[in-house]
Amino acid sequence: MYYHLLLTRRCNLNCVYCGGSEEFFSDAEVQYSLEDLKKFIERDPEPVIAFYGGEPLLRIPLMEKIMDTISAKHYILQTNGYFLDKVEEDYLRRFHSILVSIDGREETTDYYRGKGTYKRILDNVRIVRDKGYRGDIIARMTISEHSDVYEDVTHLLKLENPAFDHVHWQLDVVWSKEGEWRNFDEWVRDSYNPGISKLVRDWYQEMEARGKVLGIVPFIPLTKTLLTGEKSLLRCGSGIDFFAINPSGKISACPISSDPEFIVGDIWNSHPTELRNKLMVGPPCPECEMYWICGGRCLYANIKKHWGEEGFRKICKIVQHLIWELQQVKPKIKELLKRNVVSLEEFYYPEINNCCEIIP
Ligand code: SF4
Ligand code: SF4
Repeated sequence: MYYHLLLTRRCNLNCVYCGGSEEFFSDAEVQYSLEDLKKFIERDPEPVIAFYGGEPLLRIPLMEKIMDTISAKHYILQTNGYFLDKVEEDYLRRFHSILVSIDGREETTDYYRGKGTYKRILDNVRIVRDKGYRGDIIARMTISEHSDVYEDVTHLLKLENPAFDHVHWQLDVVWSKEGEWRNFDEWVRDSYNPGISKLVRDWYQEMEARGKVLGIVPFIPLTKTLLTGEKSLLRCGSGIDFFAINPSGKISACPISSDPEFIVGDIWNSHPTELRNKLMVGPPCPECEMYWICGGRCLYANIKKHWGEEGFRKICKIVQHLIWELQQVKPKIKELLKRNVVSLEEFYYPEINNCCEIIP
Protein backbone atom coordinates (compact mmCIF):
# COMPACT_ATOMS: atom_id res chain seq x y z
CA MET A 1 0.00 0.00 0.00
CA TYR A 2 0.96 3.63 -0.51
CA TYR A 3 0.96 6.34 2.15
CA HIS A 4 1.14 10.08 1.78
CA LEU A 5 2.86 11.15 4.96
CA LEU A 6 2.03 14.77 5.75
CA LEU A 7 5.10 15.96 7.67
CA THR A 8 3.54 19.37 8.30
CA ARG A 9 0.62 21.35 6.96
CA ARG A 10 2.73 24.49 6.86
CA CYS A 11 4.19 25.79 3.64
CA ASN A 12 6.78 28.46 2.93
CA LEU A 13 4.95 29.60 -0.20
CA ASN A 14 1.55 31.16 -0.69
CA CYS A 15 0.58 30.19 -4.23
CA VAL A 16 -2.28 31.96 -5.99
CA TYR A 17 -4.36 28.80 -6.46
CA CYS A 18 -3.74 27.47 -2.97
CA GLY A 19 -3.79 30.57 -0.79
CA GLY A 20 -1.78 29.16 2.10
CA SER A 21 -2.97 26.77 4.76
CA GLU A 22 -4.00 28.91 7.75
CA GLU A 23 -7.28 27.05 8.19
CA PHE A 24 -5.40 23.82 8.93
CA PHE A 25 -3.20 25.13 11.68
CA SER A 26 -5.01 23.31 14.50
CA ASP A 27 -3.20 20.11 13.49
CA ALA A 28 -0.33 21.59 11.54
CA GLU A 29 2.43 19.47 13.07
CA VAL A 30 2.83 15.75 13.65
CA GLN A 31 1.03 14.68 16.83
CA TYR A 32 1.93 10.98 16.96
CA SER A 33 5.12 9.29 18.07
CA LEU A 34 7.49 7.71 15.56
CA GLU A 35 7.03 4.46 17.46
CA ASP A 36 3.27 4.55 16.77
CA LEU A 37 3.83 5.34 13.10
CA LYS A 38 6.37 2.52 12.81
CA LYS A 39 3.94 0.05 14.42
CA PHE A 40 1.25 0.97 11.91
CA ILE A 41 3.39 1.03 8.76
CA GLU A 42 5.27 -2.14 9.59
CA ARG A 43 2.04 -4.09 9.61
CA ASP A 44 2.19 -3.55 5.86
CA PRO A 45 4.66 -5.93 4.15
CA GLU A 46 5.30 -3.57 1.22
CA PRO A 47 4.71 0.03 2.24
CA VAL A 48 5.58 2.91 -0.05
CA ILE A 49 5.99 6.23 1.74
CA ALA A 50 5.45 9.52 -0.11
CA PHE A 51 6.55 12.57 1.88
CA TYR A 52 3.99 15.30 1.45
CA GLY A 53 2.80 18.49 3.12
CA GLY A 54 2.32 21.47 3.34
CA GLU A 55 5.94 21.49 2.35
CA PRO A 56 7.63 18.32 3.65
CA LEU A 57 11.15 19.75 3.40
CA LEU A 58 10.30 22.25 6.14
CA ARG A 59 10.77 19.16 8.33
CA ILE A 60 13.94 17.58 6.94
CA PRO A 61 15.16 16.19 10.31
CA LEU A 62 11.80 14.45 10.80
CA MET A 63 11.89 13.05 7.27
CA GLU A 64 15.41 11.71 7.81
CA LYS A 65 14.45 10.19 11.12
CA ILE A 66 11.52 8.40 9.49
CA MET A 67 13.76 7.11 6.69
CA ASP A 68 16.25 5.88 9.29
CA THR A 69 13.60 4.22 11.43
CA ILE A 70 10.85 2.90 9.17
CA SER A 71 11.76 0.75 6.23
CA ALA A 72 9.69 1.08 3.10
CA LYS A 73 9.78 -0.57 -0.29
CA HIS A 74 10.12 2.88 -1.84
CA TYR A 75 10.25 6.49 -0.69
CA ILE A 76 8.85 9.30 -2.81
CA LEU A 77 9.17 13.03 -2.25
CA GLN A 78 6.66 15.63 -3.38
CA THR A 79 8.09 19.09 -2.77
CA ASN A 80 7.90 22.70 -3.90
CA GLY A 81 11.65 22.45 -4.43
CA TYR A 82 12.69 25.43 -2.30
CA PHE A 83 14.79 23.41 0.12
CA LEU A 84 15.82 20.52 -2.12
CA ASP A 85 19.44 21.66 -1.94
CA LYS A 86 19.34 20.95 1.81
CA VAL A 87 18.66 17.22 1.43
CA GLU A 88 21.81 15.18 1.95
CA GLU A 89 23.03 12.83 -0.74
CA ASP A 90 22.51 9.68 1.33
CA TYR A 91 18.81 10.44 1.65
CA LEU A 92 18.37 11.80 -1.87
CA ARG A 93 19.67 8.59 -3.33
CA ARG A 94 16.95 6.62 -1.57
CA PHE A 95 14.05 8.33 -3.32
CA HIS A 96 12.42 6.39 -6.10
CA SER A 97 10.91 9.60 -7.52
CA ILE A 98 10.96 13.27 -6.70
CA LEU A 99 8.04 15.45 -7.77
CA VAL A 100 8.96 19.12 -7.90
CA SER A 101 6.29 21.78 -8.24
CA ILE A 102 6.90 24.08 -11.18
CA ASP A 103 4.17 25.50 -13.37
CA GLY A 104 5.94 25.90 -16.71
CA ARG A 105 7.74 28.96 -18.08
CA GLU A 106 9.33 31.45 -15.69
CA GLU A 107 6.52 34.00 -16.01
CA THR A 108 3.84 31.38 -15.38
CA THR A 109 5.61 29.80 -12.40
CA ASP A 110 6.48 33.12 -10.78
CA TYR A 111 2.98 34.48 -11.35
CA TYR A 112 1.42 31.63 -9.35
CA ARG A 113 4.18 30.77 -6.92
CA GLY A 114 6.02 34.05 -6.29
CA LYS A 115 8.85 35.97 -7.93
CA GLY A 116 12.13 34.08 -8.12
CA THR A 117 10.54 30.66 -7.62
CA TYR A 118 11.29 29.35 -11.10
CA LYS A 119 14.99 30.16 -10.87
CA ARG A 120 15.32 28.78 -7.37
CA ILE A 121 13.64 25.50 -8.31
CA LEU A 122 15.81 24.97 -11.36
CA ASP A 123 18.96 25.80 -9.39
CA ASN A 124 17.97 23.22 -6.79
CA VAL A 125 17.07 20.51 -9.29
CA ARG A 126 20.49 21.08 -10.88
CA ILE A 127 22.09 20.60 -7.45
CA VAL A 128 20.14 17.37 -6.97
CA ARG A 129 21.42 16.07 -10.31
CA ASP A 130 24.96 17.23 -9.49
CA LYS A 131 24.76 15.28 -6.24
CA GLY A 132 24.25 12.19 -8.37
CA TYR A 133 20.50 11.60 -8.09
CA ARG A 134 19.53 9.37 -11.03
CA GLY A 135 15.90 8.60 -10.15
CA ASP A 136 12.80 10.02 -11.78
CA ILE A 137 12.40 13.79 -11.40
CA ILE A 138 8.93 14.90 -12.34
CA ALA A 139 7.94 18.50 -13.02
CA ARG A 140 4.62 18.68 -11.19
CA MET A 141 2.56 21.53 -12.59
CA THR A 142 -0.66 23.13 -11.53
CA ILE A 143 -2.49 24.56 -14.50
CA SER A 144 -4.90 27.43 -14.14
CA GLU A 145 -6.21 30.38 -16.11
CA HIS A 146 -2.83 32.09 -16.43
CA SER A 147 -1.31 28.95 -18.01
CA ASP A 148 -0.93 28.01 -21.63
CA VAL A 149 -0.77 24.23 -21.40
CA TYR A 150 1.01 23.86 -24.73
CA GLU A 151 3.68 26.49 -24.09
CA ASP A 152 4.22 25.59 -20.45
CA VAL A 153 4.45 21.82 -20.88
CA THR A 154 6.64 22.17 -23.99
CA HIS A 155 8.97 24.52 -22.13
CA LEU A 156 9.51 22.03 -19.30
CA LEU A 157 9.99 19.12 -21.70
CA LYS A 158 12.72 21.01 -23.53
CA LEU A 159 14.78 21.99 -20.49
CA GLU A 160 18.21 20.41 -20.56
CA ASN A 161 20.11 21.62 -17.54
CA PRO A 162 18.43 20.53 -15.43
CA ALA A 163 16.24 18.16 -17.39
CA PHE A 164 13.02 16.71 -16.01
CA ASP A 165 12.36 13.07 -16.80
CA HIS A 166 8.62 13.59 -16.86
CA VAL A 167 6.08 16.39 -16.82
CA HIS A 168 2.75 16.02 -15.10
CA TRP A 169 0.00 18.51 -14.37
CA GLN A 170 -3.16 18.88 -12.41
CA LEU A 171 -5.91 21.32 -13.28
CA ASP A 172 -6.87 23.93 -10.72
CA VAL A 173 -10.50 22.86 -10.73
CA VAL A 174 -13.08 21.88 -8.09
CA TRP A 175 -10.71 22.44 -5.12
CA SER A 176 -13.04 25.14 -3.87
CA LYS A 177 -16.35 26.69 -4.87
CA GLU A 178 -14.93 29.90 -6.29
CA GLY A 179 -11.41 29.35 -7.53
CA GLU A 180 -9.61 32.12 -9.34
CA TRP A 181 -11.42 31.74 -12.63
CA ARG A 182 -12.64 34.69 -14.66
CA ASN A 183 -13.87 32.73 -17.66
CA PHE A 184 -13.29 29.02 -17.35
CA ASP A 185 -15.36 27.97 -20.38
CA GLU A 186 -13.58 30.35 -22.71
CA TRP A 187 -10.15 29.28 -21.44
CA VAL A 188 -10.99 25.61 -22.01
CA ARG A 189 -12.33 26.28 -25.48
CA ASP A 190 -9.64 28.69 -26.70
CA SER A 191 -6.55 27.65 -24.80
CA TYR A 192 -6.59 24.36 -22.90
CA ASN A 193 -8.29 21.97 -25.32
CA PRO A 194 -6.47 23.28 -28.41
CA GLY A 195 -3.22 23.09 -26.40
CA ILE A 196 -3.88 19.44 -25.56
CA SER A 197 -4.57 18.70 -29.24
CA LYS A 198 -1.23 20.28 -30.21
CA LEU A 199 0.64 18.46 -27.46
CA VAL A 200 -0.76 15.08 -28.57
CA ARG A 201 0.25 15.87 -32.14
CA ASP A 202 3.82 16.78 -31.10
CA TRP A 203 4.00 13.74 -28.82
CA TYR A 204 3.13 11.43 -31.69
CA GLN A 205 5.45 13.22 -34.14
CA GLU A 206 8.40 12.74 -31.77
CA MET A 207 7.61 9.01 -31.62
CA GLU A 208 7.43 8.78 -35.38
CA ALA A 209 10.49 10.91 -36.13
CA ARG A 210 12.84 9.79 -33.36
CA GLY A 211 11.27 6.73 -31.77
CA LYS A 212 11.03 8.64 -28.51
CA VAL A 213 8.06 8.58 -26.16
CA LEU A 214 8.25 12.01 -24.53
CA GLY A 215 7.57 11.99 -20.80
CA ILE A 216 4.16 13.64 -20.85
CA VAL A 217 2.69 11.76 -17.90
CA PRO A 218 -1.06 11.95 -18.58
CA PHE A 219 -0.64 10.66 -22.14
CA ILE A 220 1.47 7.58 -21.38
CA PRO A 221 -0.71 5.38 -19.13
CA LEU A 222 -3.90 6.50 -20.88
CA THR A 223 -2.42 5.36 -24.18
CA LYS A 224 -1.37 2.10 -22.57
CA THR A 225 -4.97 1.55 -21.53
CA LEU A 226 -6.18 2.31 -25.06
CA LEU A 227 -3.59 -0.01 -26.60
CA THR A 228 -4.05 -2.93 -24.23
CA GLY A 229 -7.71 -2.56 -23.24
CA GLU A 230 -6.69 -3.06 -19.59
CA LYS A 231 -9.24 -1.32 -17.38
CA SER A 232 -8.19 1.18 -14.76
CA LEU A 233 -9.70 2.18 -11.46
CA LEU A 234 -9.09 5.63 -9.96
CA ARG A 235 -5.58 6.30 -11.13
CA CYS A 236 -4.34 8.28 -8.13
CA GLY A 237 -5.29 5.28 -5.99
CA SER A 238 -6.98 7.38 -3.28
CA GLY A 239 -9.26 5.26 -1.14
CA ILE A 240 -8.10 2.11 -2.99
CA ASP A 241 -4.46 1.56 -2.09
CA PHE A 242 -3.19 5.10 -1.45
CA PHE A 243 -3.97 6.75 1.88
CA ALA A 244 -2.86 9.88 3.66
CA ILE A 245 -1.51 9.86 7.20
CA ASN A 246 -2.44 13.27 8.57
CA PRO A 247 -0.36 15.05 11.24
CA SER A 248 -3.09 14.13 13.75
CA GLY A 249 -2.56 10.41 13.03
CA LYS A 250 -5.93 10.15 11.31
CA ILE A 251 -5.91 8.40 7.98
CA SER A 252 -7.77 9.92 5.08
CA ALA A 253 -8.41 8.61 1.60
CA CYS A 254 -7.04 11.70 -0.15
CA PRO A 255 -4.12 13.86 0.98
CA ILE A 256 -5.85 17.16 0.32
CA SER A 257 -8.70 16.60 2.76
CA SER A 258 -9.14 15.46 6.32
CA ASP A 259 -12.84 16.29 6.25
CA PRO A 260 -14.95 13.63 8.00
CA GLU A 261 -16.18 12.01 4.76
CA PHE A 262 -12.57 11.18 3.81
CA ILE A 263 -11.43 9.76 7.16
CA VAL A 264 -11.10 5.99 7.02
CA GLY A 265 -9.16 5.23 10.21
CA ASP A 266 -6.14 6.17 12.29
CA ILE A 267 -2.66 4.80 12.86
CA TRP A 268 -3.52 3.40 16.31
CA ASN A 269 -6.60 1.37 15.46
CA SER A 270 -6.44 0.58 11.76
CA HIS A 271 -4.68 -2.23 9.98
CA PRO A 272 -3.37 -1.48 6.47
CA THR A 273 -5.19 -4.47 4.96
CA GLU A 274 -8.55 -3.18 6.24
CA LEU A 275 -8.05 0.08 4.37
CA ARG A 276 -7.90 -1.35 0.88
CA ASN A 277 -10.86 -0.25 -1.30
CA LYS A 278 -12.35 1.61 1.65
CA LEU A 279 -13.65 4.54 -0.38
CA MET A 280 -14.45 4.46 -4.08
CA VAL A 281 -15.82 7.03 -6.50
CA GLY A 282 -19.62 7.13 -6.68
CA PRO A 283 -22.05 8.40 -9.33
CA PRO A 284 -21.73 9.44 -12.05
CA CYS A 285 -18.37 7.68 -12.58
CA PRO A 286 -19.10 3.92 -12.35
CA GLU A 287 -21.90 4.28 -14.92
CA CYS A 288 -19.85 6.44 -17.28
CA GLU A 289 -18.76 4.89 -20.58
CA MET A 290 -15.28 6.38 -20.04
CA TYR A 291 -14.89 4.89 -16.54
CA TRP A 292 -12.64 2.04 -17.61
CA ILE A 293 -10.20 4.53 -19.15
CA CYS A 294 -10.62 7.54 -16.86
CA GLY A 295 -11.03 5.63 -13.61
CA GLY A 296 -13.08 8.47 -12.12
CA ARG A 297 -10.40 11.19 -12.28
CA CYS A 298 -10.56 12.48 -8.66
CA LEU A 299 -12.22 11.06 -5.55
CA TYR A 300 -12.17 14.48 -3.87
CA ALA A 301 -14.01 16.13 -6.77
CA ASN A 302 -16.38 13.18 -7.03
CA ILE A 303 -17.43 13.50 -3.38
CA LYS A 304 -17.29 17.26 -2.91
CA LYS A 305 -18.63 18.41 -6.29
CA HIS A 306 -17.76 21.99 -5.32
CA TRP A 307 -18.81 23.17 -8.78
CA GLY A 308 -22.10 21.23 -8.67
CA GLU A 309 -23.20 18.52 -11.12
CA GLU A 310 -22.91 20.82 -14.10
CA GLY A 311 -19.40 21.95 -13.11
CA PHE A 312 -18.35 18.33 -12.58
CA ARG A 313 -19.52 17.48 -16.10
CA LYS A 314 -17.49 20.36 -17.51
CA ILE A 315 -14.32 18.71 -16.25
CA CYS A 316 -15.47 15.37 -17.68
CA LYS A 317 -15.69 17.04 -21.09
CA ILE A 318 -12.03 18.05 -20.74
CA VAL A 319 -11.12 14.44 -19.88
CA GLN A 320 -13.15 13.23 -22.85
CA HIS A 321 -11.32 15.63 -25.16
CA LEU A 322 -7.95 14.31 -23.98
CA ILE A 323 -9.03 10.69 -24.44
CA TRP A 324 -10.52 11.49 -27.85
CA GLU A 325 -7.25 13.01 -29.03
CA LEU A 326 -5.28 9.99 -27.83
CA GLN A 327 -7.75 7.69 -29.56
CA GLN A 328 -7.03 9.51 -32.83
CA VAL A 329 -3.30 8.68 -32.66
CA LYS A 330 -3.79 5.15 -31.34
CA PRO A 331 -3.90 3.45 -34.78
CA LYS A 332 -0.71 5.27 -35.82
CA ILE A 333 1.03 4.29 -32.58
CA LYS A 334 -0.03 0.68 -33.22
CA GLU A 335 1.75 0.93 -36.56
CA LEU A 336 4.90 2.23 -34.85
CA LEU A 337 4.69 -0.70 -32.41
CA LYS A 338 4.45 -3.15 -35.30
CA ARG A 339 7.50 -1.59 -36.94
CA ASN A 340 9.38 -1.61 -33.59
CA VAL A 341 9.84 2.15 -33.72
CA VAL A 342 8.57 2.25 -30.13
CA SER A 343 7.84 -0.60 -27.74
CA LEU A 344 4.78 -1.25 -25.61
CA GLU A 345 7.00 -1.29 -22.49
CA GLU A 346 7.61 2.41 -22.97
CA PHE A 347 3.96 3.00 -22.13
CA TYR A 348 4.25 1.11 -18.83
CA TYR A 349 4.74 4.24 -16.82
CA PRO A 350 4.65 4.93 -13.93
CA GLU A 351 6.41 1.83 -12.72
CA ILE A 352 4.86 2.40 -9.28
CA ASN A 353 2.17 4.86 -8.24
CA ASN A 354 4.51 7.82 -7.89
CA CYS A 355 1.87 10.40 -6.88
CA CYS A 356 1.08 11.44 -10.44
CA GLU A 357 -2.70 11.40 -10.56
CA ILE A 358 -2.51 10.78 -14.33
CA ILE A 359 -5.82 12.41 -15.26
CA PRO A 360 -5.32 16.19 -15.00
S1 SF4 B 1 -15.27 11.18 -17.45
FE1 SF4 B 1 -16.21 12.10 -15.63
S2 SF4 B 1 -17.97 10.79 -15.10
FE2 SF4 B 1 -16.65 9.67 -16.53
S3 SF4 B 1 -15.35 8.42 -15.20
FE3 SF4 B 1 -14.23 10.33 -15.67
S4 SF4 B 1 -14.71 11.73 -14.01
FE4 SF4 B 1 -16.22 10.08 -13.93
S1 SF4 C 1 -6.69 13.21 -7.78
FE1 SF4 C 1 -8.23 13.88 -6.31
S2 SF4 C 1 -8.60 12.10 -4.98
FE2 SF4 C 1 -6.69 11.75 -6.08
S3 SF4 C 1 -5.09 12.50 -4.68
FE3 SF4 C 1 -5.61 14.19 -6.07
S4 SF4 C 1 -7.18 15.35 -4.98
FE4 SF4 C 1 -7.05 13.36 -3.98
